[in-house]
Amino acid sequence: MQSIGIEAEILDVTEVQALEPGVRADIAGGVLYPQDAHLDPARFVRGLAQQLERKDVEIRTSTEVIGFETSGRRVTVVETTRGDFSAEEIVLAGGAWSPGIAEDLQIDLPIQPAKGYSITVKSPERSPAIPIMLAEAKVAVTPMGEILRFAGTLEMAGFDLSINRRRVDAILRAVSDYLPEIDLENLERIEIWRGLRPCTPDGLPFLGRSRMYDNLTIAAGHATIGLSLGPITGKLVSQLIMDEEPSIDLTLCNVERFH
Ligand SMILES: Cc1cc2nc3c(=O)[nH]c(=O)nc-3n(C[C@H](O)[C@H](O)[C@H](O)COP(=O)(O)OP(=O)(O)OC[C@H]3O[C@@H](n4cnc5c(N)ncnc54)[C@H](O)[C@@H]3O)c2cc1C
Repeated sequence: MQSIGIEAEILDVTEVQALEPGVRADIAGGVLYPQDAHLDPARFVRGLAQQLERKDVEIRTSTEVIGFETSGRRVTVVETTRGDFSAEEIVLAGGAWSPGIAEDLQIDLPIQPAKGYSITVKSPERSPAIPIMLAEAKVAVTPMGEILRFAGTLEMAGFDLSINRRRVDAILRAVSDYLPEIDLENLERIEIWRGLRPCTPDGLPFLGRSRMYDNLTIAAGHATIGLSLGPITGKLVSQLIMDEEPSIDLTLCNVERFH
């Protein structure tokens, strides 16, 4: 991380405990990323939508894309459950559902859904002050004001959204293992949530124009870090559409790299 210019401080156990007294004492140490930030994803998405609506962008919720019409190298119509739409430029950003959407355009996107869970509780008395990634357990603990969120697990179960209690319990066990002061028995649970992460074979997103159509851009497959990569993805998509040089070389994200 340091070699590519990202600040990372290696801390011993005393330094970790000075930052977060609730972390168990027999750990080897930790790494602090001072430039990292965190947010409440739902509030971020709602806030973004409000900003866009203020700029007269029309957002059609509950409107499912069911197919396309094409003419030569152009996608001319997007067919949805709420009518047909035409546009000069089309961005396909359907997360784990992108392969099914792209199929109608004969574009094969190897993306698999990987289910993850989060458990949100009312912030307990001994809540950590900063987000912590429990490295071996791959569980994230994120304080968000009044609430505390535990998230983790990568379950390959297709589009099955059922909740596997063993997975939920494993996340909670990891929390109590690393942060023994958190009293699991008395946590006030707000919600168990699950979502599907869009995973690609090489862990990189598909980001760019498709070879077959001149007015279609694909932005999908951001796996476990789609929220972090959302802003830069939006910027790169806008650069592609405006025919500007993308600010990052997108060769590795080529949409057809597996064909
Ligand atoms: C438990 C968990 C924790 C995570 N933690 C983090 C984290 O800490 N940091 C981070 O950066 N990322 C995190 N992620 C990953 C992040 O959520 C994803 O990478 C991100 O949501 C992908 O964004 P997306 O817009 O590509 O897809 P999505 O967010 O899945 O959005 C795709 C949208 O397309 C819609 N859609 C599907 N089919 C159609 C259709 N036919 N027509 C119209 N719309 C359709 C869906 O309803 C959905 O709204 C986490 C994920 C999970 C599950």
